[in-house]
Amino acid sequence: MSFPDWNEDHEAFRATVRRFTREEIRPHADRWRQEGFPDELFSKAGALGLLGVRFDPKWGGSGLDHWYTVILVEELMRGRDIGAVVGLLVQCEMATSVIHAHGSDELRQEWLVPAIRGERIAALGVTEPGGGSDVAALITSARREGEEYVIRGGKIFITNGVRADFVTLAARTGGPGADGISLLVVPTDTRGFQVGRRLEKLDLHSSDTAELFFDDVRIPVRFRVGEEGRGFRYIMQAFQSERLVLSTMVNALCRDILEETRAYLEERSAFGRKLASMQVWRHRMADLVTDLEASELLTYRAADRLVSRDPGAELSVSMAKLHAAEMVRRLIPDCAQAFGGYGFMEENYVARCSRGVQNWGVGAGTSEMMREIIAKRWMDSRRP
Ligand SMILES: Cc1cc2nc3c(=O)[nH]c(=O)nc-3n(C[C@H](O)[C@H](O)[C@H](O)COP(=O)(O)OP(=O)(O)OC[C@H]3O[C@@H](n4cnc5c(N)ncnc54)[C@H](O)[C@@H]3O)c2cc1C
Repeated sequence: MSFPDWNEDHEAFRATVRRFTREEIRPHADRWRQEGFPDELFSKAGALGLLGVRFDPKWGGSGLDHWYTVILVEELMRGRDIGAVVGLLVQCEMATSVIHAHGSDELRQEWLVPAIRGERIAALGVTEPGGGSDVAALITSARREGEEYVIRGGKIFITNGVRADFVTLAARTGGPGADGISLLVVPTDTRGFQVGRRLEKLDLHSSDTAELFFDDVRIPVRFRVGEEGRGFRYIMQAFQSERLVLSTMVNALCRDILEETRAYLEERSAFGRKLASMQVWRHRMADLVTDLEASELLTYRAADRLVSRDPGAELSVSMAKLHAAEMVRRLIPDCAQAFGGYGFMEENYVARCSRGVQNWGVGAGTSEMMREIIAKRWMDSRRP
């Protein structure tokens, strides 16, 4: 039996996403790198049902599982516009899965349903200028006044932050530590909300990444997601899908880069023979494709454990994210080396991707945080 055991339904979904990527992303990637991808990409993806893959059909989702998220990511990555993929995945996973899982029906109707349709754009606001890894220490506050929260503080590195219609915000509604954090839906047209700088990144140019300010922003208490003081736990649960998404993105990117490199090695000659015939390159490719295969299997194992609601899934998810993030730092620069001078040219996709490799070990929890989780779950566990 092959693993994953893709069936006809998986393949049909894959074909749908592949067509969408071929028609709506790939032809525009070069232009979007300069201009940013357009808002209408959300509504086009929403019309095809790509923004609510795992969500309940009651809210416009498809009621599928993490395997379909994996397929979605693998196929979107063929568009060679990682910024657009990140923007779409924040919309359909990172900023909305907590509303789906814990929000009231009223909140879901008002914010989740239009997000699944791609009619309202979502961002997730967790990271602050003072730090992102230590989520339990965040300081943006939401003080309760009667039936309202009054929010003060700031967020940074927020994907979709410039264009979002709402931010799923982590804010301190109680005392210090993890138990003082709640999640709130903040409409961006509320008085006191302001987008600061649009941040310039080394890569992922088509996506917008912003700093956000909250200056006594008032929102109704009914915009809280789930229970007060449970926000930290909700975020940690949602991180599992987010990390699966990131690992899958990295693997798909590396597969694409390896194929591109193989084609170049087969075509390029030096000293009267093809690069692909030289043992040093053959061995290097052998090492890299072995590393990638291991990474893909770890990610699929993580997906499998999430789908079967295995309580140990967090260990596999963290291993998959760590392995993928560390692999990409070796794999893409090694591949760029095969292109010689072209490996340093802006026009070359492999070269451009080599610029952003360290980012994969930062978003959705850094590699150091993944090691912390793995050490806690594995090293500190006792054999029975
Ligand atoms: C392109 C991009 C998009 C992003 N999008 C979003 C978004 O949409 N929403 C959002 O909320 N955030 C977003 N982020 C932020 C991202 O989640 C954070 O950058 C990340 O969590 C790390 O936080 P930090 O940058 O504050 O680093 P810090 O937490 O300050 O860490 C700095 C360094 O110290 C290390 N470190 C910290 N603690 C320890 C420890 N205990 N032991 C060892 N090492 C440690 C870290 O691993 C890191 O290497 C985005 C970031 C990027 C680059």
